Amino acid sequence: MRGYALAMRILIVEDDPVIGDAIQRALVRDGYAVDRVENAQQAKAALHAEGFDLVILDIGLPREDGLQLLRELRRKGRNLPVLMLTARDGLTDRVTALDLGADDYLTKPFQVLELLARCRALLRRANGVASTRLTLGRLSLDLARKEVMLDGQGLELTQREWSVLECLVLNAGHIVPKDKLLSAVSSWGDEISLNAIEVYVSRLRAKLSACAVIHAIRGLGYRFDEKQD
Ligand code: CA
Repeated sequence: MRGYALAMRILIVEDDPVIGDAIQRALVRDGYAVDRVENAQQAKAALHAEGFDLVILDIGLPREDGLQLLRELRRKGRNLPVLMLTARDGLTDRVTALDLGADDYLTKPFQVLELLARCRALLRRANGVASTRLTLGRLSLDLARKEVMLDGQGLELTQREWSVLECLVLNAGHIVPKDKLLSAVSSWGDEISLNAIEVYVSRLRAKLSACAVIHAIRGLGYRFDEKQD
């Protein structure tokens, strides 16, 4: 198990409120922590302040467009995955976007299901997870479907419990700081406290008591270990 985290935090940069809403709803429903901004300026502030795993970037933005923003990101050496949204007749834009370092693009109008599949593919690639299934002793996680199996039986988890567990399992054997877990479960606008993380962890402990131990490391965070019996 390597020490990376599939934190799954996505930034949407889209000025069209209808499209922005639709994408945001679908991603949140799939359990991602999602933030949304409407222009390049806000996007830069967000990217400066927060750790994102993926950016969904519309080309047609007011003032500075998505291509300019992409160029600037890549020039600064930011290599996080970028999925561009382009207009139907935007062949030149699509070519330019790929040349500038976009990882993928979707042409409007698109089906949300396709957007979700492309996001999963980009996140998998970026995190070096070839398979979407992770097995750890008696526990098995399907990262794409966000399903957990214990001895082959499905476990019921809330979205936030899932996010915490995913982050812990991807870092199994290593200490995960509390604020990293916090960032895995929260979006802007949500007030989630570090105490809430403790609640999610204690629920996970109860649900996984047969197969795993989640150690609290005082002042540092949590460490997930497979139960040895
Ligand atoms: Ca637009």
